[in-house]
Amino acid sequence: MNKQFDFIVIGGGILGLSTARQLQQRFPGQKVLVLEKEGRPAQHQTGHNSGVIHAGVYYKPGSLKAKFCKEGNVATKAFCREHDIPFDECGKLLVATNEVELERMQGLIGRCAENELAIEVLNADQLKAREPNITGVGGIFVPSTGIVSYTRICEKMAELVVADGGEVHFNSEVREIQEGTDQVEVTTNKVRFQGGFLVACAGLMSDRIVRMLGQEPEFKIIPFRGEYFLLPPEHNQIVNHLIYPIPDPDLPFLGVHLTRMIDGTVTVGPNAVLAFKREGYRKSDFSLKDMSEMLTYPGLLKMLARNLKPGLMEMKNSLFRSGYLEQVRKYCPQLTLEDLQAYPAGVRAQAVARDGSLVDDFLFVNSRRALVVCNAPSPAATSAIPIGAHILERVEEQLGR
Ligand SMILES: Cc1cc2nc3c(=O)[nH]c(=O)nc-3n(C[C@H](O)[C@H](O)[C@H](O)COP(=O)(O)OP(=O)(O)OC[C@H]3O[C@@H](n4cnc5c(N)ncnc54)[C@H](O)[C@@H]3O)c2cc1C
Repeated sequence: MNKQFDFIVIGGGILGLSTARQLQQRFPGQKVLVLEKEGRPAQHQTGHNSGVIHAGVYYKPGSLKAKFCKEGNVATKAFCREHDIPFDECGKLLVATNEVELERMQGLIGRCAENELAIEVLNADQLKAREPNITGVGGIFVPSTGIVSYTRICEKMAELVVADGGEVHFNSEVREIQEGTDQVEVTTNKVRFQGGFLVACAGLMSDRIVRMLGQEPEFKIIPFRGEYFLLPPEHNQIVNHLIYPIPDPDLPFLGVHLTRMIDGTVTVGPNAVLAFKREGYRKSDFSLKDMSEMLTYPGLLKMLARNLKPGLMEMKNSLFRSGYLEQVRKYCPQLTLEDLQAYPAGVRAQAVARDGSLVDDFLFVNSRRALVVCNAPSPAATSAIPIGAHILERVEEQLGR
């Protein structure tokens, strides 16, 4: 049985659902289909993240990341208000723990000014007054940072898509794509669909979707597990805000942070270790297919060589909790090993170029009748609504509307 749609979207994470919803709003009456291989929305990156509504402190002024994050911070909160989804604008504190970090902090203050973000610069006493359990020599307070459950947002978006006449098919894995002049045909494990245009927001599988379209991707998705710990309930009030380290500019990820979650708990994490399986959430998960693809990719070895020291350090801290704990104790000295309780990990889909560099900004690949989101790292959950709007502009351009 072939079914006809105007737009087919692959992926029931936050980017796919945000895009599907906005396609419906922009083209009322046109039929939108979302295909998701899992049984529920947000089963991968979107449902395994820190739940932070970022403000946009770190991102290069003028980059898509900086623009979309700032717009997304406002849009995400507005969506939550409109649909009664709880969020907390709890603010975030970046804490400098020594002179080197204090100097790096100056760079971030400059970046906040360039990105036109309201912040408060704190000295050690002001930091202590805001956060009695946190130790540092200075900090930056970012009031607009918040927390939310992105899974809740996805569930609401899926509900809205269906309520407006769209279809969301779970347990539907796209296995084949055929592109014609004015149609695209998508075959899942169950059914074949035809659509006027295809948008793929497939996260950890995005390079495989590019290949299904007959193109050889210029990058590969390399999975990085982000491991978390949960603090015991007696520490649920240990911090008033989200506590982040001052990031090392040479490292691609933000560093282990203390995150108040919207359910009232506090997590520590995430670190960043190479995963041996794309959707491998446990340390022991291994996929021969994923590993052989990774190991035959020249970009992986170059990336590992470039990041050898921090990579090994992350692996050591992943294997030995004491190393992990030291990173947090730099700013929260009262935590002990017993405070680090098990918590599910997330896996980041990071596009790595052939020269071994980590693709930093959002990346899209298009063909005649399709657009594939290929790199949507953090803060893409925050930015999902403006990214959806950007995708729509590109779709309209491609369709000549
Ligand atoms: C550990 C971690 C912490 C993070 N913290 C934050 C944060 O605090 N704030 C923030 O803004 N961002 C954060 N991020 C980033 C953010 O979560 C992601 O950028 C965002 O969720 C990406 O959404 P997505 O829809 O592109 O991907 P995903 O959520 O991964 O969704 C992709 C979907 O596509 C489906 N799919 C794949 N292939 C197929 C196929 N062939 N057929 C059908 N379906 C398919 C998958 O099953 C999946 O559901 C974090 C990410 C991680 C991993």
